[in-house]
This record gives sequence, C-alpha cells and structure tokens, in this order.
Amino acid sequence: MSKVIAVNAGSSSLKFTIYEVTSEDEVSSGLVDRIGLNDSNVVIKYGDGEKFETVTDVKNHEEAINILLEQLIELNIIESYDEISGTGHRIVAGGEIFKDSALLDEEGIKQVEALSDFAPLHNGPEAQGIRAFQKVLPGKPTVGVFDTSFHTTMPEKAYLYSVPMEYYEKHGARRYGAHGTSHRYVANRAAELMGKDIADLKIITCHLGNGGSITAVDGGKSVDTSMGFTPLAGITMGTRSGDIDASLVSYIMEKEGISDIKDMIDILNNKSGLLGLSGVSSDMRDVEAAAAEGNENAQAALEVFYDRVQKYIGSYIAVMGGVDAIVFTAGIGENSPATRAAIINDQMDWFGIDLDADKNDTRDEAEISADDSRVKVFTIPTDEELMIVRDTVRLANITE
Ligand code: AMP
Repeated sequence: MSKVIAVNAGSSSLKFTIYEVTSEDEVSSGLVDRIGLNDSNVVIKYGDGEKFETVTDVKNHEEAINILLEQLIELNIIESYDEISGTGHRIVAGGEIFKDSALLDEEGIKQVEALSDFAPLHNGPEAQGIRAFQKVLPGKPTVGVFDTSFHTTMPEKAYLYSVPMEYYEKHGARRYGAHGTSHRYVANRAAELMGKDIADLKIITCHLGNGGSITAVDGGKSVDTSMGFTPLAGITMGTRSGDIDASLVSYIMEKEGISDIKDMIDILNNKSGLLGLSGVSSDMRDVEAAAAEGNENAQAALEVFYDRVQKYIGSYIAVMGGVDAIVFTAGIGENSPATRAAIINDQMDWFGIDLDADKNDTRDEAEISADDSRVKVFTIPTDEELMIVRDTVRLANITE
C-alpha cells in the first residue's frame, strides 16, 4: 500500500513520519539524531506502541536514510522501497517565491538553498535532506512544504516594516512569519468542527509551543502573524524575546560590554523569553511549577507571556473587524489549561469570549468555550506532518 514520508531534516538530525496514503493512518515515526557525530540514536516507533532503538555511527543524511529504510523493511513496516510514493519536506523559509507547497526539481532545491539567508540554520540542512532522499529513492516525487507559504497572503500593510522602502525592495526585509503549516491545519480544522465554510470565518490561531506565534486568519487566509522577518518577533517564547524596542539592542550591548551583534541576537534568541525572565527554565511546565512555589520571577514570566498573547488577540480582532473562533495549539496551547484560562480571562468578557472551566480541563481536541460565548474557543492538537503528507499527495498526484 502506498505510503508517503513527511520529513523534518536538521543539520544533525532527521525526523520522519510515514503515512498510509488512502487511510491517512500514521504507520511509523521516529528520528535519527547526532548525524555526523558519534553514537547516533535511531528511533523507530510503529505498530501498537512498539519501538525500535539502536545506537550507531551515522556519517551523513544519506546513510541515515539508508539505515532507516532498511530497518523499516526489517520491522515489516514496509515490504519494499516501491511502497514509498513520495516524500514531503518541511522547509522553514520560502520567501516570496513559494506561495504554496511545491513539487521540487533541481531548480526548486537550488531556490530553497538560495533562501538560506532568511533561515541560516534551516534551509541548508533541509535541502541536504531532500538531496539525500533523492539519492536513496531516485525518481520519487519530492514536495517542499514551507512554514512561510500560508502567510504569503498577508497584505502589504501587514508585511511591510516602517523602515526605508528600499530595504524591502533591495533586500527582502519584510515580515514572513512562520508556523504556517500549523496555523493552516488548526484553522481549517476549527472550521470543520464548527461545520462552516472557512471562507466565512475570522479565526485567531495561537500556536504556543517552545516557539510561538499568533495568526489572524480571515476567510481561510493569513492576514497577519506575530513572527516577523525571522521567528524572533512576536510573543514571549521559551527562549526568544519576541517583540522588543530595537534600541534596546545597542543599549544592552553598550552596558554589558557585548561587542558582537551576533552575540546579542543569540541572547535574544536563546537566553530570553520564559528562560530569561524566570531564570528557571524555558519549559512552561517548569516555569508554572516554580511560580506555584512562590518564585516571583517565574510568576512575572507567566504574566508577561499571557499579556503578550492577549495583546495579539486584541489587535487581531481589530485587524479583522471581529473574530468567530480562537484556537490554541502546540505544546503549551494543547496541554496547559491554566495558560488558556489565564489568556481567556475576565478581560475577554467584553469581546464576548468566555471559557467553560470544565470543558477547558482537557488535552484533547475540544471546543472549550462557554455555551453562551459569542466566540468559539478550541484546543486542537496541531498536525503539521499530516498537512505535509496531504500536500505531497496533492502536488505529486499520488492516487493510491
Ligand atoms: P512544543 O514546542 O510544541 O513541543 O511545545 C513545548 C512547550 O510545551 C514547552 O514549553 C512545554 O513545557 C510545554 N508543555 C508540554 N506539556 C505541557 C503541560 N502539560 N503543561 C504546560 N506546558 C506544557
């Protein structure tokens, strides 16, 4: 039976999920990490909670894929390579070129590589992953699914920064956003759950994970999103600062004796957010636990986090002239009822947004708004891999 592999390749790791095309059932998932280093972990989950694990040296992505595919046959997950009808690859930056997912030929892969400036840590390794799969599975269609594509519908007023226009014209300095595949999935799923055509809905999607972003989805299209030129902008995240006054950059560098701007950007990307404020952890569970034990900085981190999400929700209601549904997703959005309740609190009454405390006590897909809430609120587990597989099937014309 025909299968598609959804791939998320990093510089030293390769995550995969295999779906059966017709049923959309997930048949296996797993990862190879520490590629190029010693002692790579190969983990393959399959069947009814079964797991294969081994530690071996894996030189490069091509070797990782060979090991993986051989093991998939060994474990009877696939009978032969013929069963794989195509691969779909998550790609972070699609710039203004990729307005939808795309079937990638050599030209397309080169375009992915050329966009590396916009995502230095991601696009290069992702292209490397694509090339490796093409070597091991020659002739199988390859589809790129871009984190930015969903946001290419943003109007100019939302994506332009108010800096000299020539920076946009010459260098592509604009808002691109990210997490588009997740926002697209949960917005469409919310419309399905409401039994309405997404074209008629205004939805605010809150992807709250270690990285986080909020998107205004009007009529099924992203019209604004909180991440910017890079994922550094927007709400408070695990380790990212989110929005700050750009003048802080030179001020802190001067006061702290930081001479290299890259070090400052690294602080904003990796040492800020929940981690920087709380001094405890970037992990929401740890921050919630520390706050519950009376740690004041952890409490402050939580309050800043809630505040930023609320501000984006408020501004996106203004952007769209209303809202029909708010969706929470990703690690925090799916698993922390306390976070959802702190965001959809009494201040949201004025908008007619009201949670049902009992319904909110869940980690499953659910509508969690009060019966008389004007705006529906949902928690929807995101499924970026399923979107990757669906796009691969659609663009590669995979029929069975
Ligand atoms: P993600 O990047 O989507 O995997 O999300 C990771 C974030 O989800 C981390 O901050 C975790 O602490 C958070 N998370 C996962 N489970 C829970 C939970 N039960 N309660 C609060 N936060 C959680």
